[in-house]
Amino acid sequence: MAKRVDNVTVLLPAFNEENGIENAVSEICNYLSQCCRKYEICIVDDGSSDNTWEKIKYLSTIFPVRGIRLSRNFGKESALRAGLEYVKTDYVLIMDSDLQHPPHVIPEMFKMMSEIDADVIDGIKEERGNESLIYKILSLSFYKIFSKLTNINLQHASDFKLLNRKAIDAYLTMTERTLFFRGMSAWIGFKRGYVRYKTHERLVGSSKWSTSGLINLARNAIISFSSSLLHVPTYIGLFFCLFAFVVIVESVYKKFMNQSAEGFPTVIVMLGILGGSILISLGIIGEYLAKIYEEVKRRPTYLISEEINYVKSKRKNNSNSR
Ligand code: UDP
Ligand code: MG
Repeated sequence: MAKRVDNVTVLLPAFNEENGIENAVSEICNYLSQCCRKYEICIVDDGSSDNTWEKIKYLSTIFPVRGIRLSRNFGKESALRAGLEYVKTDYVLIMDSDLQHPPHVIPEMFKMMSEIDADVIDGIKEERGNESLIYKILSLSFYKIFSKLTNINLQHASDFKLLNRKAIDAYLTMTERTLFFRGMSAWIGFKRGYVRYKTHERLVGSSKWSTSGLINLARNAIISFSSSLLHVPTYIGLFFCLFAFVVIVESVYKKFMNQSAEGFPTVIVMLGILGGSILISLGIIGEYLAKIYEEVKRRPTYLISEEINYVKSKRKNNSNSR
């Protein structure tokens, strides 16, 4: 049996989870008590429109629960950032609040961390649960493109992670606005271990991600992690220079051989492909320009409206004050 650790926070982002949060907290506490001497749960209410906040208030009276309420729905990535900036404990375990990250794996994560003296333990999805075929294809394509462009392989990665203070502080040094926890926590490196788990079905409620939300997350992740796409217009341009050169040589040759020019279809095809490529290139540049625009505004990535069991003056890293 590994030694029991002190000073642990479990960070749960919650958006409209009134029906499942109580069960999640009691399950998580049950497993935490097996491997941690002193622990607390920090629930970040990501602007829920149901009674999640009231539920968190109630839970804080019977469990070691603290709460942060964001002023509106900022998205899971911002909720995680808010939580990581708030908690001051030596270890933080990040989980979903719908029990899709199985709590029975928690003791194994702590055991692994102390055994190999790791800074981060990644939860690795063994299978992708009951997802639709189109979702599976889209997510596979995203991970393939992402790893090609960034050399970071996130194929079986998840947000189910245990980080020590060294890793959390390293993560917090990244001050960009476009957040992608899975990628950013992989980017920091450090000594890592992993624990495999099977994704469980959601017991109550449904996934909070819309298709457009997932597409945005994928687009943001790629654009904010790699500038490689900005080189694509250069390659397209080079290709067309070569193509144009061949057409010029052919025209000159035909002129000298007194053959009639028959370039009309070539011109049309060239124009079409060139027009399309120019627009794609402009679009890619526009995507990066938009990201730069968002970053230079330096808006906070979240705003807090209420807290439970936190003392405001104790906070150091809150992005609101950056
Ligand atoms: N979540 C959040 N803000 C959002 C969407 C989701 O805090 O805007 C939380 C949600 O309450 C859950 C976790 O993020 O704890 C994962 O969300 P969900 O289960 O909807 O995603 P999926 O499991 O389908 O990837
Ligand atoms: Mg879920």
